[in-house]
Amino acid sequence: MRVGEIWQPLRDAAFEGLVDLFFPPHCLLCQDPLDVPLQRPLYCATCLPRVVPGLEGCCFRCGIKLPYRIDGDRHVPLVHRSQTGQGCPDCRRRKWAFDRTVAVGSYEGLWREHVYRLKRPYHSADAFQAGKLLGERLLQTEWWSDYQLLVPLPIHWRRHFVRGFNQAERIAAGIATVLPLPVVAQALQARRYTRKQGTLAATARQANVQQALRHGPAAARLQGQNVIVVDDVFTTGSTANAAAKWCRQAGARRVAVAVVARAGRF
Ligand SMILES: [Zn+2]
Ligand SMILES: [Zn+2]
Repeated sequence: MRVGEIWQPLRDAAFEGLVDLFFPPHCLLCQDPLDVPLQRPLYCATCLPRVVPGLEGCCFRCGIKLPYRIDGDRHVPLVHRSQTGQGCPDCRRRKWAFDRTVAVGSYEGLWREHVYRLKRPYHSADAFQAGKLLGERLLQTEWWSDYQLLVPLPIHWRRHFVRGFNQAERIAAGIATVLPLPVVAQALQARRYTRKQGTLAATARQANVQQALRHGPAAARLQGQNVIVVDDVFTTGSTANAAAKWCRQAGARRVAVAVVARAGRF
């Protein structure tokens, strides 16, 4: 563990304490005042069940919410994930380089608005809070303790310059307040300024994303480790898959993916 890996969580905690002192905490989704312990993620008990489906209702491989029906505010799964064998039908067709995916919620409604906001300039605190929630989500899985490192998806320095922060790094820092895993920010680097993924077809997107990453100076730390790749949104999976391939090339044994939102419908 390096100095930065100890210092950053301490700095985050100190900064949060200061902010809470002057701005009493509010739910980040509905703005209602919160009286939860300050170290908890800033989301209220009314909003959370609306945005976070049960893990048993999501594909363990790609994180997508399986068919469900709405019962009041609850999402009741119609297919239990244990019945889906190798994952959802889409996962059975794909050769993912990662073993599993966990997402806080679907990229829809209130959660979508929040996740969209957290990569805008001056919103790094939102990314950090969403990361805490993702940490709690990982804690619910039976597998997180098999993994040793958190690897945030890199963004190109130009995008970093405009935004002021890398949202995946802030999300990973949030996870690290819940789980005792170091964040290795320099394992992967963004090679060039990629076109916005939404404007490309699926096959072009895959090639574009694979070439847009490379190993960073800390890639050697992945050797022999099980790593969790951290990003904001999982859409087609091409970004997560490319990152997982680079991690495996650096010697990672197993790769899991943790995201704050899973886009797409089953
Ligand atoms: Zn709320
Ligand atoms: Zn799946």
